[in-house]
Amino acid sequence: MRLHVVGNVCVDTSFRLPRLPRPGETLNATSAIEGLGGKGANQAVAAARSGADVRFWAPVGDDDIAEKMTRMLAGDLDVDRLIRLPLATDRSTILLEEGGENAIVSAVACAQGFDPIHQTDLAQTWRKDDILLMQGNLPWLATAVCLKLAKEAGLKTVLNPSPLSDVHVEDLADVDLVIVNQGEASALTGVETSAAADLLFDKGGRSVVVTLGSKGSLVWDREDDAPLVLDTPESAAVDTSGAGDCFAGTLVGLLAQGKSLVAAARVATKIAAISVTRLGTLASYPSRAEFSEIIK
Ligand code: ADP
Repeated sequence: MRLHVVGNVCVDTSFRLPRLPRPGETLNATSAIEGLGGKGANQAVAAARSGADVRFWAPVGDDDIAEKMTRMLAGDLDVDRLIRLPLATDRSTILLEEGGENAIVSAVACAQGFDPIHQTDLAQTWRKDDILLMQGNLPWLATAVCLKLAKEAGLKTVLNPSPLSDVHVEDLADVDLVIVNQGEASALTGVETSAAADLLFDKGGRSVVVTLGSKGSLVWDREDDAPLVLDTPESAAVDTSGAGDCFAGTLVGLLAQGKSLVAAARVATKIAAISVTRLGTLASYPSRAEFSEIIK
């Protein structure tokens, strides 16, 4: 099965600081690192590293950063489906206080200006039984239309509706599998995790996965009567940023290779638990070679 990941990509610059700056203050950072980011790119790379046949559809700007970003992505993915928009490439500045708070500012013109159905030939190239994976960074209307058309065309649709903005549980009718963390599950449904899974499951009989941080994940396959909780292996977490994307990309990457939902979630829980023991977002995800070793 082919996996279409449709979402955003951006350049993240992370500054480590002794503390966050006050208004009007200039502060020297202890380090600055530039890397790829965006939930779409994170999940597409995690899926590709699991061995899936990934087609990544995402908007980039019309500038030098887009060139650089494309070169960075090319190590993991086919970059032919990156769409150039006449805008500045999306980017985030992440301020990380040593052992404490962080603050993030993002420029998101490309993600907000992206309409995959009208600006790409995604819908002309997808085939029945392909999988479509989307996140919450694109405008909700464009996302909803894409999910609806994909469902009508016989694709399996997966949504990780993060960051949540205009999404409501009633909007998930065209989603076969929803992947959320505990906070998102509660925000979508207004109730706590297990009741939230019930509600997400009931509304349309879709499968539901709720990630539970250090406690692993809760998986409710629509074929099963009750949810299953999968524990994480013990791991000393140093940086949990991007863990949810590592989980979602790996899980759906394995579904695209024919694994069952529970089997895929077991591996995704393990791979994401490894990613939190290392610094960085994409930089912390196990490589393709490591992945093969880990799942042996
Ligand atoms: P998000 O990053 O979206 O908030 P979670 O925090 O639920 O998502 O984490 C996603 C997955 O990452 C979990 O299901 C688990 O596999 C792994 N994970 C996250 N935090 C830890 C941790 N402290 N120890 C081990 N695994 C973790």
